Amino acid sequence: MSKYIFVTGGVVSSLGKGITASSIGKLLESKGLTVTLIKCDPYINVDPGTMNPYQHGEVYVTDDGAETDLDLGHYERFTNAKMTKDNNITTGKIYYSVITKERKGDYLGKTVQIIPHITDEIKHHIKKVALNQKVDVVLVEIGGTVGDIESLPFLEAIRQLRLELGHDYAINIHVTLVPYIKSAGEIKTKPTQHSVAALRQIGIMPDIIVCRTEKALTKDAKEKIALFCNVDAGCVINAVDAKTIYEVPVSFKKEGLDSLLARLLNIKHPDGNLSDWERNVLKRIKSPSHTVEIAVVGKYIALQDAYKSIYEALIHGALANDTKLVLKRIDSEDIEKYGVEKYLKGVKGILVPGGFGNRGIEGKIAASKFARENNIPYLGICLGMQIAVIEFARNVCGFKNANSTEFNKDTKYPIVSLLEEQKKIQEKGATMRLGAYECRLKRGTKAYDAYRKEKISERHRHRYEFNNNYREAMQKKGMVFSGIYHKKDLVEIVELTMHPWFVACQFHPEFQSRPENPHPLFKNFIKAALSLSK
Ligand code: GLN
Repeated sequence: MSKYIFVTGGVVSSLGKGITASSIGKLLESKGLTVTLIKCDPYINVDPGTMNPYQHGEVYVTDDGAETDLDLGHYERFTNAKMTKDNNITTGKIYYSVITKERKGDYLGKTVQIIPHITDEIKHHIKKVALNQKVDVVLVEIGGTVGDIESLPFLEAIRQLRLELGHDYAINIHVTLVPYIKSAGEIKTKPTQHSVAALRQIGIMPDIIVCRTEKALTKDAKEKIALFCNVDAGCVINAVDAKTIYEVPVSFKKEGLDSLLARLLNIKHPDGNLSDWERNVLKRIKSPSHTVEIAVVGKYIALQDAYKSIYEALIHGALANDTKLVLKRIDSEDIEKYGVEKYLKGVKGILVPGGFGNRGIEGKIAASKFARENNIPYLGICLGMQIAVIEFARNVCGFKNANSTEFNKDTKYPIVSLLEEQKKIQEKGATMRLGAYECRLKRGTKAYDAYRKEKISERHRHRYEFNNNYREAMQKKGMVFSGIYHKKDLVEIVELTMHPWFVACQFHPEFQSRPENPHPLFKNFIKAALSLSK
């Protein structure tokens, strides 16, 4: 039977619960255990696919085509757990399923209520993942903050689960903020005490308290929290702001979390060994030999989380090249206003990520043109590929005002357009081309050179496709179609012959990049950028 770790958060959001859960997953794997992680999101959207990145941050896509919370990206980057559509539970999903059952008559005769029907559905969902994925430990992270109305059914469900499973089989970890008050020169434990009191009120007693803090807690401070929050002093763990998120598993181990978890869950496994992780990831991030400046030109630049996996994959690509990444985040609308030179002159690589809608499109097209004309390495992802082909069609092939029908329905040259099957679709939720598709690579291309194999599988999230009516004309002018989804003859990767490294793909390679296994396209993109700087 799997053991469970429930992770809740208090005081404020954005405490890094996802990184905490992922790091604990990593620690457990380093002991030889298998893990999976589940994220419970209390919002009513069935999935985050229909939310604006400014509301929610990146939408992370799994192999099985689920649009999920970005924490699942952290789970996959830190651990070997394979995320599926079941690893993200939302209030919307739970209610959808309960209401569907009610309409079918499954609860005939009963009043359907939050307790027990909604909470039972949550428990059923969590246990189903444990059953299907057959792991030693299931980590369940509850989104939001204790005290939110929306989180209550989830917290009640994990309270009941803990009771059903018993002490050796389930523990609660509470992540809180311990602020450092500069003027007083001290840290404050009161918010943590209040947060744990709120948890206790709904029947949950934390076993471990993870304290996010700027300054490490002293022994006294830990003892104070322990006393007021009813835990052992050894169960108060420092989570001091880290230079890189990949350091967190190592600092948790130093804090003794590794053996503490084993003791509380009654797990007899050797001490965890993180030396590979330290050598292959941490050391390389901390002491790189080179530096390279890469520009990301997008429209959700102001929010760190909107391109989370892209930024992480760039870090992985850089560490694979023993290089420090200097990121220049550029709002494509600024390029439209003030010109491309102002922002892109001097950068060694340009990446245009995915996106939807008209806003900022022309700025991205200008960025792609600048990369092409100035021999600057370019990596286009999803919309970044569509932009690149539009630019090439307009400025190299002479298709004046070529566009995607997403941005101009009546364009004379619809270089990017909808397939017939997509034209019929009215609903917006989960109706794009989603998840893993096979792609075949052409030998002798930059794509093949990166992957070094013919068949690859990458994750998708888009509605529009390259329009094959233009393939020949563009090929003649020097565009290479180096990756194809054969079953439907869809273009997956394009590149340019007359350029040092210009590669753009319709899929999202960033979702499969791992710190210990950097994605080949990111690795070669940084490599090309680096050779330009030399
Ligand atoms: N908006 C484009 C499409 O739907 C690109 C999507 C993306 O970049 N993820 O095809």
